[in-house]
Amino acid sequence: MGAKIFEELKRLLSLRSLQARIFIIVLVAGVIPSMIVRYGILDNYEEHSVQHRIATVQNQLMIVGNHLISNNYFNTKPEGYSSSVSKDVINAELEMISNLYEGRVMIIDSGLKVVRDTYDISEGKTIISEEVIRCFQGETMSNYDREHGYIEMTTPIVDASMESGEVIGVMLTSISNDATMATLEVLDRKAVILQNLVIVVIVAMAVVLSMILTRPFNRVTEAINEVKAGYSDESISVSDYAETAHIVEAFNQLLARMRALDNSRQEFVENVSHELKTPMAGIKVLADSLLAQQDAPAELYREFMEDIASEIDRENQIITDLLVLVKMDKKAQEMNIVSLNINDLTELILKRLRPIARKKDVEVVFESMRPVMAEVDEVKLTLVMTNLVENAIKYNKEHGWVKVELDADHQYFNFKVSDSGLGIPEDDLPYIFERFYRVDKSHSREIGGTGLGLAITKSAVLMHRGAITVSSVEGEGTSFVVKIPLSNAGAG
Ligand code: ADP
Repeated sequence: MGAKIFEELKRLLSLRSLQARIFIIVLVAGVIPSMIVRYGILDNYEEHSVQHRIATVQNQLMIVGNHLISNNYFNTKPEGYSSSVSKDVINAELEMISNLYEGRVMIIDSGLKVVRDTYDISEGKTIISEEVIRCFQGETMSNYDREHGYIEMTTPIVDASMESGEVIGVMLTSISNDATMATLEVLDRKAVILQNLVIVVIVAMAVVLSMILTRPFNRVTEAINEVKAGYSDESISVSDYAETAHIVEAFNQLLARMRALDNSRQEFVENVSHELKTPMAGIKVLADSLLAQQDAPAELYREFMEDIASEIDRENQIITDLLVLVKMDKKAQEMNIVSLNINDLTELILKRLRPIARKKDVEVVFESMRPVMAEVDEVKLTLVMTNLVENAIKYNKEHGWVKVELDADHQYFNFKVSDSGLGIPEDDLPYIFERFYRVDKSHSREIGGTGLGLAITKSAVLMHRGAITVSSVEGEGTSFVVKIPLSNAGAG
């Protein structure tokens, strides 16, 4: 259990892991909005409450302002004008406002002189401040000093009885914003607690989600590991996500290919063993029957020994062909490319094979349309031609013929080996290039075939990036056509 938790932690800490990334994304996506909400709400609340306070205080001050006018506070009315409200009542009103809002109210007359200060400090003094002067021109202001926690505002005292609605005085007020700040602090404390709770929940969610979301990938690894360890060789299936399904599909295809390769290798080994055992069995039978006869005549010995030697030759032939094939199969095997006169090469090969043809009274002819120079691997191309012409002679009738035609265009050269031989049944045609495939086993064996010749031929042609095709009519003859690029650029 401990080790498992340690593994999870290690995976979370490694930024390259998908799990760590999901964890971080969920965390960021959860925490950032919660912080934005917290600061957004608190800021909004502060702004809203400051505006509200300014509006309330302005309202109260307007009322007091009207009282001031009606009371002739600035002595602007003609003499003898009396009002219902005395100066003391107005002062008390001002006092009340400044107490209620923890602030100071100054009343300034048109001569910029302070006629009333609820702090009793500046009465009689002259105030020359931009805000006051602007207020006389009809421009009110309110200013929130966040750092010191107070709001300052100007309120014009307008005499509505005059036609022009003249500003005859200004109230300069500053009130404390401590009450809002205190509420804000309490709110912030609650928000912090709430936010921490949210963060804890989000972290837990991030851990759980990152584990759940990456689980299918872990399952893929587990399934592959099981196949790797050999507990299972079934195709695996993890279809939770389209992505895992794709990975698994690709893996299954790879697995199928490996299995096919394994099967074909197994089949090949079986075939090889079988082919190698056949001559051995022959030798064993011959030797046993000699041993069983006491005082066997020397001629019999000789005859059996000749048979044994021919079985050994056959065994040798199979092994030689196998070695050629295996070498050819090695991908890393290098091609030994040289520029070669194909006409000369064909002539040489035919010269070597003519004695065998003569034995069967088979005529071998060579027809060349043009001189051909090509970049090829001499040994491999010789193998191709020799095999095809040898087969054409081997599987021919008495007094038959073999024709080799050579031609080329600007890109490829091709040669055709046709014969007047036995032909190949249509059903067998698709298989003749397979290893150890022989149309008529006993006949082929008699002739000394191993069934590997055409497999070697095809490999060699493919290594030249060429192609080989066959057409045949049973009883009439067969022709093989090989097409190979003149230039070997890029092949190998
Ligand atoms: P082998 O060593 O037996 O000749 P190959 O791979 O060269 O093996 O040929 C496979 C089989 O194809 C042969 O056993 C033979 O039956 C058939 N075959 C190949 N070439 C010819 C041909 N020219 N005419 C008739 N049959 C052929």
